[in-house]
Amino acid sequence: MNETANAETILEVRNLTKHFPIYRGFIRKVVGRVQAVNEVSFSVRKGETLGIVGESGCGKTTLGRIILRAYTATDGEVLFRRDTEMVNTFSLKGKELKQLRRNMQIIFQDPFSSLNPRKTVMEIVGEPLLIHGVARGKELESRIGALLELVGLNVKHMNRYPNAFSGGQRQRIGIARALALNPKLVVCDEPVSALDVSVQAQVVNLLEDLQKELGLTYLFIAHDLSVVEHISDRIAVMYLGSFVEMAVAEELYKSPRHPYTEALLSAVPLTDPHTRKVRIVLPGELPNPSDPPSGCRFHTRCSHARDNCKTDVPSWNEISPGHWVACHYAESLSLNGIVTVDRK
Ligand code: SF4
Repeated sequence: MNETANAETILEVRNLTKHFPIYRGFIRKVVGRVQAVNEVSFSVRKGETLGIVGESGCGKTTLGRIILRAYTATDGEVLFRRDTEMVNTFSLKGKELKQLRRNMQIIFQDPFSSLNPRKTVMEIVGEPLLIHGVARGKELESRIGALLELVGLNVKHMNRYPNAFSGGQRQRIGIARALALNPKLVVCDEPVSALDVSVQAQVVNLLEDLQKELGLTYLFIAHDLSVVEHISDRIAVMYLGSFVEMAVAEELYKSPRHPYTEALLSAVPLTDPHTRKVRIVLPGELPNPSDPPSGCRFHTRCSHARDNCKTDVPSWNEISPGHWVACHYAESLSLNGIVTVDRK
């Protein structure tokens, strides 16, 4: 069962799968496949933020890149809204693909390596405008100035190089570059995880302000639930290439229905120092995605696993309106959530 799209839907992902072949030897024989993304389905409404959370190596970044057409999918579809119709992005070529790329942009994780150190801020932010033939000369300069102001940077610094800026300021440059072409959808790929804790909140607040001002839709990728807490309308939890739970953010925090979500929530720092909770430490490492466990992929680390979990793949079910889970015992397990405060 999958979510149904409606007139508000801007992005629809259907059964998306990506397996990377593993080659060996001189003749590069395929000896296996890394199952990075497995039959992931979801839709996103215009103006919404969907947080996608999971450990490193769970496939969340690959998922974002397939949506942006940086990787080719092994199977499945990605539909994106063009005016009144949803178009299959995998069938687009030439001018139509170029237009799609204008509408979908990315903010990278590492503001230190994602900006070319030999280019000035003006060249970095102006590059997409030049490539797409949007502006030149004085108009280009004035557009770049407006973008820098939008993200809270001093316009007078546009001739400086990235090394003259702090981590938070560099990420603002990356955000200005991502917004240069007025995209509708922005994939934020762990945009604050390389930053000091003290500036993370500033960048998240900036992204929230920009969303309100420009009507942006975000896919916000992160490796822990504390980062996505305030910015996300809904959150999807990913484990070993598959979504295991997805719900409205508040509900997911209060009433998780998947044991993996419960474990991630137990690691979220609480704002109230008088509240205590037990941290759930999952045994072992994330299994090898080229040889995932049978049945429920989480069974090797799940304290609730029973015999059938080792053989039967749990289906993706909507257990209450908008709350999706892949666990055989989602409706009977007693799991602990956390109560959050100051949500948007
Ligand atoms: Fe755990 Fe079984 Fe549910 Fe998987 S299906 S999360 S192993 S209880």
